[in-house]
Amino acid sequence: MNKLRLNIDGRMKTDEPFVIQISSKPQTFNSNFCASYARQDEKVQVWCIHGEFSFTLSKKDSIEDDICIVFPETQQLIRQYRAHSNSNTLLITEQCDQTCLMCSQPPKNKFYDDYDLYIQVMKLTPVKSVIGISGGEPLLEKNKLFLFIDKILAIRPDLQFHILTNAQHFGMEDLSFIKNTKNNIVWCIPLYSSNPTLHDDIVCKVGAYKQLLKSLNILFVAGSIVELRTVLIKQNQWELPKLADFIGKHLSLILNWSIMQLENEGYAKMNWQSLFVDTSIDFSYVDQAITIANNYNIITKLYNFPLCTIPIQYSNLSCQSISDWKRIYLEDCRLCHERKNCGGFFKSYPRNSGYQSIGIL
Ligand code: SF4
Repeated sequence: MNKLRLNIDGRMKTDEPFVIQISSKPQTFNSNFCASYARQDEKVQVWCIHGEFSFTLSKKDSIEDDICIVFPETQQLIRQYRAHSNSNTLLITEQCDQTCLMCSQPPKNKFYDDYDLYIQVMKLTPVKSVIGISGGEPLLEKNKLFLFIDKILAIRPDLQFHILTNAQHFGMEDLSFIKNTKNNIVWCIPLYSSNPTLHDDIVCKVGAYKQLLKSLNILFVAGSIVELRTVLIKQNQWELPKLADFIGKHLSLILNWSIMQLENEGYAKMNWQSLFVDTSIDFSYVDQAITIANNYNIITKLYNFPLCTIPIQYSNLSCQSISDWKRIYLEDCRLCHERKNCGGFFKSYPRNSGYQSIGIL
């Protein structure tokens, strides 16, 4: 398993956090940011203008070209942009104004709005990098976030952001920002039902559905790129075909609709038995929903479903959506011919209360 946050041991000339890019070819980078390293088995020794330090890293995990933030006071290093990853995300905050039944990361009173450091990180990323922004709810302090995006896009107009938001905080005052950035941002928005009461019950917030639809309207007026996301749980599975019909009729301007399997963390872990839908046994609601969405030409994707739990005719909808640092495969998967095409399981997958029918392909 790849680790994003590492404890370091070393001597630094500063107590202030700083950004470095760790590389075996450091001369190609701006000298303030370049860091060279030597590696012996799991031990990595790093040298940079701010000092030297070491940490341990799994032998299979490459640190080459990673862009990191070092916090000397707490002796920690965050691999903010991992060069060999399929998923690089800025976690802006752990605060949220919803408490969704299946939230894998329940709200905490923590903000990580180190935007000056993030700008330095973004400047060093490869051309056309795609960066996720998530929380908590990243738009709780939207003015700071929008300012950060404006600043970085002024320097790096090639970057793409995927922002995961509950869409509770957009207003008409945001229209010019949304329009100006529409080619650089995909807004990823969870919608759990076309039934307002059911959606509100799932996110535990009265009026959330109404506000979400208002926000979608603003995003569509601005010409934004929107991905709708629906986590499948027992509470909404029967309503999925109706949701597909609603999306086809009223929200057809979206880029795509993603139906997602559950991650066994946070509230989902606490309430797994009452939430988890074993789609290896019964795929019927998802099947109906995909068929209806297809009839409206809505592009549907399946996130977090192991390939062998999906009927073969829908295999092409499956995405490698689980971030590499939290993806695992089971023992049996070693023999599977489809492993390289399969998104696998979350590392938190509960083997004793998960899918009943996983089959090697
Ligand atoms: S058996 Fe194959 S398809 Fe099933 S989860 Fe493992 S790798 Fe994926």
